[in-house]
Amino acid sequence: MTEDYQNTRVVAKKTLALIEERGIRPTPHNYAIWFEYLQEANPDLTRAVNELMAKNGKYSEKMGIELFNRFFTRDREGRIIQETNRLVQKSMDNVMGDLKRTTADFSSYGEQLNNFAVNAEGMSQQDLQNMIDEIVDQTNSMSDNSSQLQNGLDNASREIADLKRRLQYVQKEAYTDSLTGIPNRKSFDTVLSKEVATAREKQSGLCLVMADIDHFKQFNDLHGHTFGDQVIKLVANTLAKGIEKNATAARYGGEEFSVILPAIDLADAVNTANDLRMAIAAKKLVERSTKKDVGRITMSFGVTTYAHPEDSMAFINRADQALYSAKKAGRNCVKHLQPSTV
Ligand code: GH3
Ligand code: MG
Ligand code: MG
Repeated sequence: MTEDYQNTRVVAKKTLALIEERGIRPTPHNYAIWFEYLQEANPDLTRAVNELMAKNGKYSEKMGIELFNRFFTRDREGRIIQETNRLVQKSMDNVMGDLKRTTADFSSYGEQLNNFAVNAEGMSQQDLQNMIDEIVDQTNSMSDNSSQLQNGLDNASREIADLKRRLQYVQKEAYTDSLTGIPNRKSFDTVLSKEVATAREKQSGLCLVMADIDHFKQFNDLHGHTFGDQVIKLVANTLAKGIEKNATAARYGGEEFSVILPAIDLADAVNTANDLRMAIAAKKLVERSTKKDVGRITMSFGVTTYAHPEDSMAFINRADQALYSAKKAGRNCVKHLQPSTV
């Protein structure tokens, strides 16, 4: 235990030194990533960090967000689920213990009743009286036991209902982006594969929109990351509000969003994307503390329609290519790609 603690302290110090040395922003996310890295406790994370560093040369904020979402949110969720399972198990064990005890008591009570019936004949008045007193005592105590068991069961079912709610909450949280409150990447993956399956099965239309904020790096540099976060929230809300109930707007990652549009053709999807684009471009951005008008932001959109029987990856790639065309065409516009043209 002390050794663990010592080791943790050493790694914590090393983490701080590394963050300082490499000029990494000292956020809790970055701290968690580098602590885990230096602790060498998670080979997958070590490999991912090494690969990203080799590819990009240096650590970026985007990398940090990617790594955190990949390794930590899931870990945390796993831990909570494990803990919840442990509590459910404990609660069940308590009830089982009560049940076993009560059952044992009941059988000895039954035995005594039986003895009474067998021995009653030929007993003296006094012995009979004593025996009856004992049976009355036993019966009272059995009744106590049984109401204790009832209480135990009531408590356990309350506890289990609480734990179930907690699990539902954790599950909901696991599929929600913590900054914006809209579905996250994991949710996007799940919804998309479900919708692709439906489109395949019913041969129905399905469209996908990929959207990315224009020149957002510049925006962050100019107005700060915190204000940048507020803009990401505003974008998320605008997208979520601007779509039909059967559609899903998700934060795909960083400042990229995606919209899944089931049962719709490409022309309608392009119209929807254009409506969203205009809704975002129309928002005036005002810095809350200074009330300063900081202009507007725009977004570029790529739209495509599902081509039977491709997989989700091919579908996403085509929407991405359309987004890339929108960026190339000067941004703040919607471009689409027909499956056949790729
Ligand atoms: P482009 O028009 O080509 O998309 O330019 P860009 O600057 O938006 O593109 P790039 O992908 O180079 O930069 C994206 C920036 O978004 C970099 C990163 O700092 C910022 N970003 C990503 N995630 C977040 C976030 O959660 N909060 C904030 N504030 N910024 C973020
Ligand atoms: Mg981007
Ligand atoms: Mg961008």
